Amino acid sequence: MSSNNETTAPSNFIRQIIDQDLKAGTNDGRVHTRFPPEPNGYLHIGHAKSICLNFGVARDYQGGQCNLRFDDTNPHKENIDYVNAIMEDVKWLGFDWQDRLFYASDYFEKLHDFAIELIKTGKAYVCGLTAEEVREYRGTLTEPGKESPFRARSVEENFDLFARMRAGEFNDGTQVLRARIDMASPNMNMRDPTLYRIRHGVTHHKTGEAWCIYPMYDFTHPVSDALEGITHSLCTLEFEDHRPLYDWVLDNITVDCHPQQIEFSRLNLEYTVMSKRKLTQLVDEGVVSGWDDPRLPTIAGLRRRGYTSSSIRTFCDRIGVTKSDNSVEMGMLEACIREDLDRHAPRAMAVLDPLKLVIENYPEGEGEILSAPNHPKDESMGSREIPFTREIYIDRADFREEASRKYKRMVTGGEVRLRNAYVIRCDQVIKDDEDRIIELRCSYDPDTLGANPVGRKVRGVIHWVSAIHGVPAEVRLYNRLFSHPTPDGDKQMASFLDYLNPDSLKTAQAYVEPSLASAGDGSHLQFEREGYFCLEHNAEAGNGLVFNRTVTLRDSWAKIEQQSKK
Ligand code: ATP
Ligand code: MG
Repeated sequence: MSSNNETTAPSNFIRQIIDQDLKAGTNDGRVHTRFPPEPNGYLHIGHAKSICLNFGVARDYQGGQCNLRFDDTNPHKENIDYVNAIMEDVKWLGFDWQDRLFYASDYFEKLHDFAIELIKTGKAYVCGLTAEEVREYRGTLTEPGKESPFRARSVEENFDLFARMRAGEFNDGTQVLRARIDMASPNMNMRDPTLYRIRHGVTHHKTGEAWCIYPMYDFTHPVSDALEGITHSLCTLEFEDHRPLYDWVLDNITVDCHPQQIEFSRLNLEYTVMSKRKLTQLVDEGVVSGWDDPRLPTIAGLRRRGYTSSSIRTFCDRIGVTKSDNSVEMGMLEACIREDLDRHAPRAMAVLDPLKLVIENYPEGEGEILSAPNHPKDESMGSREIPFTREIYIDRADFREEASRKYKRMVTGGEVRLRNAYVIRCDQVIKDDEDRIIELRCSYDPDTLGANPVGRKVRGVIHWVSAIHGVPAEVRLYNRLFSHPTPDGDKQMASFLDYLNPDSLKTAQAYVEPSLASAGDGSHLQFEREGYFCLEHNAEAGNGLVFNRTVTLRDSWAKIEQQSKK
């Protein structure tokens, strides 16, 4: 493989085809791909697979190019906000289309001319069947279709009718332009597919009201690819049956480029939905807070959740590119961000469910500044100051009045180490009228800072935050949005919404160490013993610190799933 970059992605069957093409001298040695999103929603992790593939190929081959092309031929669903969000996400993922930004709508005039060429050669006709009739006439997989009564129209008549379609003389749905191919073809897509339809009363984000006829995807796509000189048109498997039509279009119009369409499998991810229609529904119905809700598999959602672009690229490399459809476990995506953040996220302490602890033998009104390394394995990340005081918070889950030896945290009478600080012992438990623990009274051993006590066994290490210097913060604990691995794959349920996980978002009022008060938006952190978190970009002003949990420290889901299978 001819490679010009150190960050070359792993090979796959598409790269092998390109290698062979280059060897054979096809396309004059050019490699030119494109990523063609429809601006009718935000990009999701499935699109990231396509982006990494298309832009990755362009990056890894000598002279390779990749276009960003908006496939904007459905004006009623598309808008400029989606265009902008898509560009932002592609850039954030680390790819650059440079000066190769295109819109299918730029080709409306040319597409129209090609349609006329097809009319003139008798390869297209204007059909007045209703949508329902068209469906009836199309036949089934086992029965051939019937020819439209309008199929035999003369070239002149078709030319005239198509001109009148464009001029706005007909209502929506009353006329379409169809290719004249073969109503008996075993491939349903070849049974005189629609090339143009009428749409009045919509404003296109680029062409405004200039057009009332719009080309269909199956016509627009091959033409756009050819006009841009694309060599390899990579798309998902559901377009395999459309390939004969793709080739038919290019074989029957005058263009000098005939890109090769190659299909690969879509990415499906467990416990989520990926279709834009369903994502739109979640957003529109307010099930989530927006396209960038951290529970969504959108790029914007993953970014806000705390995913890094490199972890998403790693994921796309790992899942690979094949022809077989499959569903990828969420754990695989989570492993990628966990590995990234384990290496790069500074450590900090945060107490998510605070319980007050008083160290009675520590002098009242005093305190000291301790030092803690920012990363246990990477000294170059430096250290930070953490204030230690007589009153601190620990997490409620780190204390039990009584527990077996297996419980490596704090128990009454037992000793435990405070992370980065002293060994303490719990002497007394204070409860309220309802028998709820409200405070622990403890003592500390001043000789245990950075040293183990002599002759005594310490149960474990727990994290803490000074009650005086700790900063209150809202911590959002995200979980999977759905409680079923394939929420849209179960025909028995009325809707994928029936599988929503009611616990997909829990909020904790936490205390975090004061060093975090100055953390920048989007900072990634490991809250020791809790997981990886990210400082929320979009916190409403005045709300103080808000952290999103990116991922837990370990894959607790693998365990839960194993148990439920037992
Ligand atoms: P949806 O069906 O959810 O509307 P789409 O495929 O219509 O998605 P487009 O904006 O048309 O969305 O997709 C742009 C490109 O991204 C296409 O080439 C498409 O094949 C690819 N793509 C979309 N979803 C996935 C996925 N889940 N896995 C891999 N590639 C995908
Ligand atoms: Mg599409």
